[in-house]
Amino acid sequence: VNRDEVILEAEGLSRSFGSVKALDDVSFVVRRAQIHGIVGPNGSGKTTLLNSLSGLIKLDAGTVVFNGKDVSSSGAVQRARLGMARTFQAPRIFSDLSVWENLDVGRGGAAKDGWLGEGLDMVREEWDSTPGGVLPHAQQRFLEVIRVLRQDPTILVLDEPAAGLSQLERKEFGNLLQSVVAATGASVVIVEHDLELVWQIADVISVVDSGQVRLSGTPDELRNHPAINHLFAGV
Ligand code: ADP
Repeated sequence: VNRDEVILEAEGLSRSFGSVKALDDVSFVVRRAQIHGIVGPNGSGKTTLLNSLSGLIKLDAGTVVFNGKDVSSSGAVQRARLGMARTFQAPRIFSDLSVWENLDVGRGGAAKDGWLGEGLDMVREEWDSTPGGVLPHAQQRFLEVIRVLRQDPTILVLDEPAAGLSQLERKEFGNLLQSVVAATGASVVIVEHDLELVWQIADVISVVDSGQVRLSGTPDELRNHPAINHLFAGV
């Protein structure tokens, strides 16, 4: 795995809603097997950024190059086919399907199952008969992430995956993501409100505010940055 290889390059992303500049000239790169955390106050443009990366909304300006391909004018389905997986703030699992059936949804071609054992310890017991909908919230989250991972994505785009998880579950979730990245070489873009989790797992963090990337660096570089406290005052 060449961890210098650029997997995703966002350049000059801009998107306004009426007079609100939700994204204002945002640029960043995500490298192979890297976890890139996106943090920022409410309304700073994080979800709009994820939606524009995964092709769910149109940009006013800017380009997204994914795996060497300019996907700026490709839709979400096309980007998914190219290896971009996405999860949403509310887990999207199929309540009536069993856990195993959930894991097979959307799975095309040969998935890499080698690392699954570890991840699936979190979704325990009787997967053949247990409907996904009766799993506790945290396990629905794990199930959703494991399902999209079975599509063998090049990049995972996660919107607040730790919402509703306990402290311990967050830690387990962070460990799961890190082991998946190590085992598969997938990259991750994660928007997350829980700063502790982001600082635990991210290789690079971008801090957005008012639609702009204000700061970018490693967790260590940003840990004691004076602007961090300022940006998150009141969060
Ligand atoms: P975050 O995810 O950081 O909370 P969002 O990306 O959801 O921020 O929103 C950024 C800004 O864009 C906010 O001011 C929000 O109200 C506005 N916005 C986002 N989506 C829409 C939309 N579909 N229509 C109008 N305004 C929107």
